[in-house]
Formats: sequence, structure tokens, C-alpha cells
Amino acid sequence: MQNAALSVAGLSLRYERRAVLPMALSDVLREFAVSGMAGNVTMPHKEAVWAACAVKSTLAERTGSVNTFWHEQGALHGHNTDVAGALASIAALRPTGMRGRAAAILGAGGAAAAVLVALELSGCTDIRVAARTPERAQRLGERVGVAVHVSSSAERAAAGASLVINATPLGLHDDAMPIAPEQLDVDCAAFDLVYRVSETRWVRACRTRGLRAEDGLRMLVEQGAEAFRVWFDVEPSLRAMWTALEAREKVAG
Ligand code: NAP
Repeated sequence: MQNAALSVAGLSLRYERRAVLPMALSDVLREFAVSGMAGNVTMPHKEAVWAACAVKSTLAERTGSVNTFWHEQGALHGHNTDVAGALASIAALRPTGMRGRAAAILGAGGAAAAVLVALELSGCTDIRVAARTPERAQRLGERVGVAVHVSSSAERAAAGASLVINATPLGLHDDAMPIAPEQLDVDCAAFDLVYRVSETRWVRACRTRGLRAEDGLRMLVEQGAEAFRVWFDVEPSLRAMWTALEAREKVAG
């Protein structure tokens, strides 16, 4: 997806995937500092790279995680573009915004922090969080600086909500669903951060119930596009990024 955007923009750079064990991260960051590398990080490195950054954007500060880094005058800079990605998906599912509407986040990890900030930016003030570890849900609101109501179950969180967001890995490797679609209101929209070939069972089941639903692919593309803007100050070709992803999905499928 990034290589497709680089090619359209005429930038002769290559985006490469590199698997890094947590114990090797500091050595890799030292190596990147020498070459002035920019890139993305994913789990489990988002918090460790946040801690390593000399300069952090406001969104990186608020979420406590960095997924996009670059070097300027030898200093490591970090930003969180998952917020922009989540905001794009929320806007697609709720084009009129979230002001006056309730939202439920299921899960309280790093991605939930980005979703929480995105919900606040979309005007939502009634945000419920349900998590397997309730203390983590409480800490999430405090850390991000957004008032949340900690619910004792996904069903309680979703009652009367206009948007329910799965921020757990449920459905990633199996057909588990974070909440039964029947528990969602008839005008509720479902946003699954998880993405996989042919979407998740939860997204398909929510659509069967007649609900608006989408998986995490848009968030993936939009967080990547935002990273591209940050690195190059150039608008990437979203069409090329989507085409590259869809081609990959066909190969994987
Ligand atoms: P994380 O920091 O590990 O947090 C995961 C959350 O889900 C935690 O609250 C965890 O609870 C909970 N959880 C884990 N397994 C569960 C289970 N079996 N049942 C109920 N709750 C469970 O992970 P993350 O980085 O936030 O990522 C969450 C998901 O979002 C992943 O599937 C990831 O792929 C996806 N994601 C997508 C995008 C995108 O661009 N679409 C971006 C980022 C992340 P505990 O605290 O009790 O462990």
C-alpha cells in the first residue's frame, strides 16, 4: 500500500517490512538514527517507540503510543496516525458526526486509546468502555483525558449506543464476535477494528441484521495515508493504496 503510493508520487523510496523482537528494538532504533529512517511501528512496539521519541505530537502524547516515526536533525519524532484512521471510519459510518449520540468501545488497549480520541474529535460526549480487565478501561479514560463510563459488560455499553466499536482482537483468527448483533439497536452502526480477508464474521452478521458495518481496512488505509502526509508533505493516492490492498486480499483469499 505504501509502495503503491510512493510509486504514484514518483518517490524513489521503498517501504519494507521488518520483524523486530522487543529485546532488539533499541539496537534497531540506534541503527535507524544513523540512517535517518522513517517508518511505522505496530504492536508490540507502539509504547516503547513512544518512550524513545525525543519529540512527540499532541496525538502521540494523548494516546501514549506512536505508530509513525521519522528523524529531524538527528532527533526521533513520533506521531499517532491511528486517530486519523479511526476518525475516517467513524465519519464513514456516522457522516453527521457523533454529537448527541452515544458510542461504546469494546476493549481498552492501545487502539482503543486512538478510537477514544477520535470519538472526542467527532463530538461524542457519551462514551462507554467495556473491557475484560475493567481497571484498564478506567485507566484508559484517565490516561487519554476523556471522560468515559466504564460498563460492566459489552451489552450494557452498547445499550442505546449509535456506534459500537470492537477494539479487541476477537474475530482476528477465529469467528468470535465481541457482541451479538441482536444486542445492538436497529439504528446502531458497527465498526470492527479487526480486518481480514472477506471481512470478519461480526461485520457480516451486523450487515445481515441490516446495520451499517465496516471492518478495519479503511482505518488501515487512512492511518497509512496520514503517515505518508507527515513524512513527505504530499497527498498520497488513496486509490492506489486501496488497489494495492485489494490485490493483496485477492492473493490471500
Ligand atoms: P491491545 O493493546 O493488546 O488491547 C486489546 C484489548 O482487547 C485489551 O483490552 C484486551 O483485554 C482485550 N482482549 C484481548 N483478547 C480478548 C478476548 N479474548 N476477549 C475480550 N477482550 C480481549 O491491542 P490493540 O493494539 O488495542 O489492538 C486491538 C485490535 O485492533 C487488534 O485486533 C488490532 O489488530 C486492531 N487494530 C487495527 C487497526 C487498523 O488500522 N484497523 C489499528 C490498530 C489496531 P486485556 O487488557 O484483558 O488483555
